Amino acid sequence: MTDLLDISYPIIQGGMQWVGRAELASAVSNAGGLGILTALTQPDPDALRAEIARCRAMTDKPFGVNLTILPTTSPPPYKDYLDAALDSGIRVIETAGRSPREFIARIKDAGGVIVHKCTAVRHAVSAERAGVDAISIDGFEAAGHPGEDDIGGLILFAAALMLGAEGINMGTRFCATQEAPIHDNIKQAMVDASERDTNLIFRPFRNTGRVLKNGVSDEVIRIERRPGGAEFEDVRPLVSGARGKAALTSGKIDDGLVWASQVMGLIEDIPSCQELIDRIVRDCRKAIDIGQAAFSG
Ligand code: NAD
Repeated sequence: MTDLLDISYPIIQGGMQWVGRAELASAVSNAGGLGILTALTQPDPDALRAEIARCRAMTDKPFGVNLTILPTTSPPPYKDYLDAALDSGIRVIETAGRSPREFIARIKDAGGVIVHKCTAVRHAVSAERAGVDAISIDGFEAAGHPGEDDIGGLILFAAALMLGAEGINMGTRFCATQEAPIHDNIKQAMVDASERDTNLIFRPFRNTGRVLKNGVSDEVIRIERRPGGAEFEDVRPLVSGARGKAALTSGKIDDGLVWASQVMGLIEDIPSCQELIDRIVRDCRKAIDIGQAAFSG
């Protein structure tokens, strides 16, 4: 994984709407992982070009671009975002959501590497068959859209390596860092929350989402469960990305959806990305040493 992505440690900061901007991506890459800019966080492909240039001014290490293909209020020009990334010299594209099949040839022609993020083994197998270079798999505890199958994954780095993974993809943990470009109140809410403080929304719309338990997500659940059921239109005003972005910026926790995972139960501080990655690598090496000692002893 480190060879494929040209990084020091096999740790990817997954794409995150509104959070995956130059501040965070450059900090993660500078700390030895792979930072990722989220394409759709930028209002249009030209803004993505500018953001890539801004990130490049903040790190001389490689970073990638995430392209998420999921239901959205206004379908974006995916192809133009992809062109913006590849034409700017981005090599690693993290695809997520629906199958990246239609974009693979374009990425390969540009010499790119595709890491596809998915939530089910059958999707991983079909993406591999379609030609992606690597799979990162989100367990059911993950934030954002953890799929419809409810299969749990792992949130511990050494455990993931022991089971044969070649690296880890983290999102929520990187939100609670110094460099994440979101309000301190949101970071503190992640420190304060336990693993029981997420809500699953959108299941009736087959677009399940895991978010922080707050006023808005409680209200969405209430609407979804009311007698007679609900349509997406009934919750649309509550869940818009624009509203979530405003909450991340203002720090008003109950003003919009805040995407976060059960890993909040393990988050107890707000370190820099460098401190965080150093700690993960240190803990991982220690766990592997202990494991090896147990086997040889
Ligand atoms: P938005 O304002 O368009 O939509 C808000 C939320 O409603 C998103 O989760 C979207 O998936 C969902 N949604 C929209 N239309 C829907 C429909 N017809 N049926 C069911 N669900 C619907 O989106 P945004 O927050 O500005 O995000 C833009 C893109 O980024 C979307 O593709 C979204 O899915 C994606 N996103 C991904 C994550 C993640 O964790 N993977 C988190 C937030 C957003």
